[in-house]
Amino acid sequence: MKRLRGLAVGLVLCLFSIPVFSQVDLSYYLPDDVNYNPEVPTPQSVIGHEVGEWHITHDKLVYYMRALAAASDRVTLEDIGTTHEGRPQVLLTFTHPDNHAGIDKIRTDHVWLTYPPESEKFDVKKMPSVVYLGFSIHGNEPSGSNASMLMAYYLAAAQGPEIETALRNTVVLLDPSFNPDGLNRFSTWANMHKSKNINPDPNDREYSEAWPRGRTNHYWFDLNRDWLPVQQPESRNRIAKFHEWKPNILTDHHEMGTNSTFFFQPGVPSRTHPLTPKENQELTAKIGTYHAKALDRIGSLYYTKEGYDDFYYGKGSTFPDINGGIGILFEQASSRGHAQESANGILRFPFTIRNQFTAALSTWQSAVEMREELLTYQRDFYKKVLREANNDDVKAYIFKAEKDAARSYHLADILQMQEIDFYRPSRRIKTDGMEFQPEDSYIVPLDQRNYKIIKAMFETRKEFTDSLFYDISAWTYPLAFNLEYSEMSARDYGRNQLGDKVTEVEFPSGAVIGGQSAYAYAFEWHGYYAPRAANRLLSKGIRLKVATQPFTAEKAREESFDYGTILIPVANQSLSEYDLFLEMQKIATEDGINVYNITTGLTDGVSLGSNSFSTVTKPKVALMVEAGSSYDAGEVWHLLDTRMDMLVTKLPANRLSTNAIDRYNTIILTGGVSMDKEGVENLKNWVRNGGTLIGTGSAVTWLSSQKFTNLKYASSERPSGENIPYDQVTNFRRAQFTPGGVFMSKLDLTHPMAFGYYKEELPTFRRGNTFITPSDNMYSNPARYTNEPLLSGYITDANLEAMKGTSTVRVNALGRGRVVSLVDNPNFRAFWYGTNKLMMNAIFFGRIVNTAAAR
Ligand SMILES: [Zn+2]
Repeated sequence: MKRLRGLAVGLVLCLFSIPVFSQVDLSYYLPDDVNYNPEVPTPQSVIGHEVGEWHITHDKLVYYMRALAAASDRVTLEDIGTTHEGRPQVLLTFTHPDNHAGIDKIRTDHVWLTYPPESEKFDVKKMPSVVYLGFSIHGNEPSGSNASMLMAYYLAAAQGPEIETALRNTVVLLDPSFNPDGLNRFSTWANMHKSKNINPDPNDREYSEAWPRGRTNHYWFDLNRDWLPVQQPESRNRIAKFHEWKPNILTDHHEMGTNSTFFFQPGVPSRTHPLTPKENQELTAKIGTYHAKALDRIGSLYYTKEGYDDFYYGKGSTFPDINGGIGILFEQASSRGHAQESANGILRFPFTIRNQFTAALSTWQSAVEMREELLTYQRDFYKKVLREANNDDVKAYIFKAEKDAARSYHLADILQMQEIDFYRPSRRIKTDGMEFQPEDSYIVPLDQRNYKIIKAMFETRKEFTDSLFYDISAWTYPLAFNLEYSEMSARDYGRNQLGDKVTEVEFPSGAVIGGQSAYAYAFEWHGYYAPRAANRLLSKGIRLKVATQPFTAEKAREESFDYGTILIPVANQSLSEYDLFLEMQKIATEDGINVYNITTGLTDGVSLGSNSFSTVTKPKVALMVEAGSSYDAGEVWHLLDTRMDMLVTKLPANRLSTNAIDRYNTIILTGGVSMDKEGVENLKNWVRNGGTLIGTGSAVTWLSSQKFTNLKYASSERPSGENIPYDQVTNFRRAQFTPGGVFMSKLDLTHPMAFGYYKEELPTFRRGNTFITPSDNMYSNPARYTNEPLLSGYITDANLEAMKGTSTVRVNALGRGRVVSLVDNPNFRAFWYGTNKLMMNAIFFGRIVNTAAAR
């Protein structure tokens, strides 16, 4: 050991062996070859305990960071936004005080490197590199956030000429908690179960968190899948800062299973996304040598180049790779609570924190020493990107959602968040048999510096070098949004087709066409927010009907009104004629739909008083929680609560077997549930009495196994695998799994489950190999996979064959009630806007599906 100085003096014990349950102090974590400025507050002096003694709560973490920023001229702190639960997201900027004086220019010069050819004017020899250190995006993987205090302290307090030089040559952005709500949820759990005598028994409650656990954010979303789709506020705040800085390296500190060691990227080489340049992986490997050396020094085991990958760009360690930077994943074996028995002996929380801190520090060192290399790589990356765009057969993407501007608005919003340049067409464009108008379409040219992000969002891919995926294999956005879109080649596209550049996307506002009505109003169900409008009206006690047939209303408009049109009679409502008109104006502007004044009940097709209009019942929705997938449940909660403004009761699974369910008319299950016979019977009786029971994902097979439905499965021919060597069996078996891709379904547009859709074809997200054969009952098959379903993603030939023609949606009757099986998850990660309507239709119209013959 080197001699100890500064704060570390007297804390000599133990780099390699610490008494198992004695408390550690700062000297355990920090390098002992530098002095620490005594003016800079240590974590303990602010938070009241030593790092690792308790799990840091988010408020204390922020409190410490603010104290540090106040005490040191090396660091500034900014609030970059708030989480769902209102917690501040803070970002600290560490650099030499001289750099701080001109930080705006440093930032803008840095970003100029991403703009060829102007980037040539900048001398990378004189520019600092930019490192973004990001911690614990999974809240129950807390060693990262706890280590962030050590890293922040080190950057503010470590002294000496080498440190000064390093600070001059780098800007370190430090985000102590990528997921404040999840971190706080988990720290509460771990701290409330800590014993005075720390008990490492894995059976202790401390190590088995309650559903939904602290990994996710408030609505139970995995934020480490949201870097590309940016549907959560935490991601939006962070991505804005990312683009403001375009860091050279971004670290993403995680935890994995308790019996593991430590992992750093690169991951499995064959599983790197083809859009990521080879040089990116080479630099990642070179940075890895710094981690290896640092971990060797403290005696920690580690591994690299296996287990994890760099494929899905929605992850923090992969997203930088299409932005001219290097993303680095760290995975530390998790002690989960304060200490736990493991295959490597007792794994103590401080040990996990020290590894994370060590890796953050080695990252910084690599950013100092590889500075010019990283900056040059970044500049070249953007130069090459323009060349690649030039060589691409596709020159632009054009898209619209003809009858639902809200859906194309939400994709445009993502483009804007990702700093992609896009335009309105300058005039009508005809391509691929479609017409795109300036007022309803967006056009995205590829010859721009964010070419790679655009490709990552828009391309389809069916060929892969590997058959294993850590996450999904495809996520094509215009398909997820069910848009009309086209890839434009050089033949179709010219820059003169670009009209106004879109600088601020605006939510589409509708109008009440024809003004105040004395007779009736109608709005079609095409709008993404039509269910929100319907729910608003129902909540005010306004009676609504839904058209189960199309009709034409004279004077209102020339086209016919489609299946699923909502009719609001003016007579006999609880609101006056004028107040009802005001409500119509409100839904038109706030929900982005056109409402039509209808002056007569005599229409072409069915008349307004016909039985072809069914009464719409106000949904009273319960969502099962504490069983099944918390992600899927969270997606439903998020959809209904944040987008549709609907009340949804999160109902603990054990109450499904009680009469608590009698106050709902709709229950959603996102997974199976263990329930005794009486419980199942209770739930069945609720359906028989008229309830709508909706199942997604594994709930579909559970409902069938419990005889709510009676589904039959199509099985794929299993490959024999007889010549597979022992050490490849696991991979072989995993390769049979469908990891998540896009497949085409075909809708019956006359079916209530398809109301609001205006195209038969619907791209559907599918994961897993459950294939349901269509029902003999013709009422019960609103959606099936086509005979050529693969649009984008990985699937084996045998599974693809088995999928053809199978059901994606089924409706079965049970007594007076309905059971709706949504075989795929229609709400995937909140960006699958195209299939959300299936869920809303099940909620609003499941109960009106014809039962005469349904079984
Ligand atoms: Zn993680």
